[in-house]
Amino acid sequence: MKRMASIGECMIELSGATADAGPGPAGEGQMRRGFGGDTLNVAVYARRALPADAGAVAYVTSLGEDPFSADMLAAWGDEGIDVGLVDRMPGRLPGLYVIVTDAGGERSFLYWRSASAARETFRADNAERLSAALRDYDLVYFSGITLAILDGDGRARLLDVLREVRGRGGLVAFDGNYRPRLWHGPDEARFAVSAILPYVSIALPTFEDEAALYGDADAHATADRLHALGVGEIAVKQGPRPVLLSGPDGREEVAVPPVARIVDTTAAGDSFNGAYLAARLTGLPPREAAVRGNATAGRVIGLRGAIIPREG
Ligand code: ADP
Repeated sequence: MKRMASIGECMIELSGATADAGPGPAGEGQMRRGFGGDTLNVAVYARRALPADAGAVAYVTSLGEDPFSADMLAAWGDEGIDVGLVDRMPGRLPGLYVIVTDAGGERSFLYWRSASAARETFRADNAERLSAALRDYDLVYFSGITLAILDGDGRARLLDVLREVRGRGGLVAFDGNYRPRLWHGPDEARFAVSAILPYVSIALPTFEDEAALYGDADAHATADRLHALGVGEIAVKQGPRPVLLSGPDGREEVAVPPVARIVDTTAAGDSFNGAYLAARLTGLPPREAAVRGNATAGRVIGLRGAIIPREG
C-alpha cells in the first residue's frame, strides 16, 4: 500500500447565496459556507483516483478546536482522507475567505488568513512529529501557497522533511501556484521556491503562474528552468492547450480534450495534480498520468465548485 501526504491550508469559504443577497456587492443576509484550499483539493482528487487498496492519502495542516475545524475534519474523513496527522491548536482558528460577486457576475476573493492555525504547521514541536511520521511516505505534495503561508523557520523545517523523504527514496511533488498577494514581492517567492526545488522530484506547474513569476516565454522555457534546478519530471499545464511533459526520456505534448460547457475553472490545476499523482503512485507512466489528469480536470470545470460530487 502506497502512502501519499498533501501539506497546506484549507480555509472556511463564505459566498453570497445570491437569492438572499441584498443591495451592493457585499450583499446582506445569509451566506453559504464551504471549505477551500489548493492542497486539500489535490488530496481529495488523489484519494478519489486511487483504488482503496492501492494507497492512502493523508492531509497535513493545523486547525483550531472550533466547530468549523471539526466540520472540516469530518468532511475530509468522509472523503476517505487520513486526518491522523492534522494538528489542533487551542485558541487558533482556520483562515477564512469570502467570494464576492459583483453585478456583472464577476467574482473576487477577500481573505482573512494572516493569523490562521495552518501558518503554524511547521512550528518546532509539530515539525518534529511530522518529520517522524512523513519520512517513510512514498510521496509528499505541497505548493507555493504552502510555502507562502509559512515563516522562514517553518519553510526550513518543511525543507528538512522533504530532504528526508527524498533521502529514503520517496517522491516530492510541487506546484508553484504563484499568488502574488501571499508574498512580500516576487523576490521573496523566487528565493523560497529556489531553496526547495533541489528536493522536488515532480513539478506540476501552470505555465501562466510561472510566466508571471519568472517571465518564461513558453512551456519549454519553464521545463528547461526546472530541470536546471534538478527537477526530474515535469508536467506543465496550460489550460486548454496541451500539457507539456518533460523527463529523462525527452519531451512530449498531451492534448487536452475539449470541454463543451465550462462552468467553473476553480481547482482545474489541483484536480489534474491529484489524478496525475495518484496514477504515478500506482506506477503508471507520466503520459497516462497526464491523460487521467486532463480527464479529471475536464469533469471538474464542467461543474460548479472546487470539489465536485463523487461519481457512482
Ligand atoms: P490552473 O487551475 O492551475 O490555472 P490550468 O488552467 O492550466 O490550471 O488547467 C489545468 C487543467 O485543466 C488543464 O491541463 C486541462 O486539463 C484542464 N483545463 C483547463 N482549462 C481548460 C479548458 N478551457 N478546456 C479544457 N480543459 C481545460
